[in-house]
Amino acid sequence: MPAVSGRRLEGERDVEGNPVIELKHISVAFDGEPILQDLNLSIRDGEFVTLLGPSGCGKTTTLRIIGGFVNPDAGDILFNGKRINDLPPYKRGVNTIFQKYALFPHLNVFENVAFGMRVQKKSEKEIRKTVKEMLEMVSLSGYERRSVHRLSGGQQQRVAIARALANNPKVLLLDEPLGALDLKLRKDMQVELKRIQQATGITFVFVTHDQEEALSMSDTVVVMDKGVIQQIGSPQDIYNEPRNAFVADFIGESNILDGIMVDDFLCEFAGRRFRCVDQGFAPRESVDVVIRPEDIDVVSAAEDCLTGVVTQVTFKGVHYEIIVDVNGFKWMIQSTDCQRVGDTIGLRIQPDEIHIMKKSSYSGLFGDYSSFSDEMDEEPSAPEEAEEA
Ligand code: ATP
Repeated sequence: MPAVSGRRLEGERDVEGNPVIELKHISVAFDGEPILQDLNLSIRDGEFVTLLGPSGCGKTTTLRIIGGFVNPDAGDILFNGKRINDLPPYKRGVNTIFQKYALFPHLNVFENVAFGMRVQKKSEKEIRKTVKEMLEMVSLSGYERRSVHRLSGGQQQRVAIARALANNPKVLLLDEPLGALDLKLRKDMQVELKRIQQATGITFVFVTHDQEEALSMSDTVVVMDKGVIQQIGSPQDIYNEPRNAFVADFIGESNILDGIMVDDFLCEFAGRRFRCVDQGFAPRESVDVVIRPEDIDVVSAAEDCLTGVVTQVTFKGVHYEIIVDVNGFKWMIQSTDCQRVGDTIGLRIQPDEIHIMKKSSYSGLFGDYSSFSDEMDEEPSAPEEAEEA
């Protein structure tokens, strides 16, 4: 595992291949409220990039800046190295697919896909050929004459994708395109979208607030919060080497503790010293320590290790989610072995499961499952009991 100094931070990512889109020092405010602040992002040709973050963090605004629907107050947008700030959307070589597919209701599947080409006055022969190819690409051959009203949500989404691809964009912008689909269909379409992206080689810039979707589809994930990029990296980088407590918490479950780097490869937290694999910190530097719930082994409390009392056990299908109170800090552990509430257990953590992060403005905000447990304890009582009370 690389040390902290090896992590990819904003603007430090190695971009292999030529960047197709570059955002440089982009800032936007709406009604005097800063929405994006000095945002820098480079997207390379053929990459599947996902903008990931909570609602309101500025993902859609970033996409709309690339698409030409929002003008930044400061900063430049480059397309293949050329500044395009002043180019209108239709001249940018990008196409957008919105969450609400915005299909033309009065046109059938064929005409929806053909629409852009008709506007561009392409020949009938070329239109027929392209529509056929695009419908094959999205597995909708044979649906040409079907009214879009008689399509399922997933099929409508495929038509929207085919329509966008028919314009032969260099870059496709996708704003939560799977948001309206049910979970099963959403998962199918994730696989389908990834396949289409790989088959066409078109650069995809995808927006979602669903971390699992981002991790499973992307070459690169851009994690945003409050209009600022928190981390850019591969899904593995983001999951295994979160840059700060926000990223660690947003991407999956995390125990995040206050710690001290005693020395290179030696840290201290929860009142004990642990060997770790990070280095390059100042002597006794305060740090945040992240340990994923699935990386903790449950052992006998008799061993020389952290010990705590099990306060809650929830069956989750593939594993049990176990909350353990270690001197007042509540840890989450995921284990296929069940534990009994009230038992004292030992927790063993291997050096490479300990991830050290620099302190940040997010320190102390996440990573203790006390509130999680309390919420569960305070689950509303049955309606009749509530009424009686
Ligand atoms: P969501 O996942 O909810 O779509 P998001 O991360 O895509 O969120 P944006 O849509 O980019 O976020 O919005 C960022 C902030 O900018 C929000 O607080 C939003 O209310 C505000 N905002 C967006 N567009 C406008 C606008 N045209 N005028 C004023 N405020 C806006």
